[in-house]
Amino acid sequence: MVKLLVASNNAKKLKELEKILADAGIEGIELLPLSAVEPYPEPVEDGRTFADNALIKARAGVQHTGLATIADDSGLAVEELNGMPGVLSARWSGGHGDDEANNRLLLGQMAHVPAERRAAAFVSVCALVTPDGEEHVVEGRWPGSLLTAPQGENGFGYDPLFQPEGEQRSAAEMTPEEKNAVSHRGRALAQLREPLAALARQA
Ligand code: IMP
Repeated sequence: MVKLLVASNNAKKLKELEKILADAGIEGIELLPLSAVEPYPEPVEDGRTFADNALIKARAGVQHTGLATIADDSGLAVEELNGMPGVLSARWSGGHGDDEANNRLLLGQMAHVPAERRAAAFVSVCALVTPDGEEHVVEGRWPGSLLTAPQGENGFGYDPLFQPEGEQRSAAEMTPEEKNAVSHRGRALAQLREPLAALARQA
């Protein structure tokens, strides 16, 4: 078995990756959460792009554990705001992870923007870095548009403000299963099938 560190504090990401490996018939990879390795200092995510931050996290994992590491960085990119909140999604209103304040600020900034200029996409960039220095970076996008008021109770972050393309509901009105099946994260991870299969062959 090849050990693969999933450098994320979010258990859901490990589950999603497990499912993708299983669906692709990839055996021989053992996924390890951060809690399974010797604790190491969290790297500062000061990149200007999702790819920069995903690589910062994946490289830190390799450096501190010697294991192949996968990490992702994600956020909401609003066209009218030139792709912002982007890498600042989690702390758009200042503090880290205050979803309500972030949503309120974004709604205010977009208050006078008409429907045809409210395009947005959730973006996820995943980086896979191996101990011999191989680096794979892939991006998944989930296109849609910004609503004018929050809708729905499921999900997290900007889900209540985001209406996926072809949907009448917000992302927060979809079940977790419906969202996982089409979301940016799954779309990014799916593109890592080949490099993950190659990693598994080293077992
Ligand atoms: P992280 O990559 O998990 O650190 O997520 C960064 C931030 O992007 C989150 O705090 C959310 O604000 C936003 N975000 C990323 N993915 C989603 C999603 O699927 N729904 C809602 N917000 C998201």
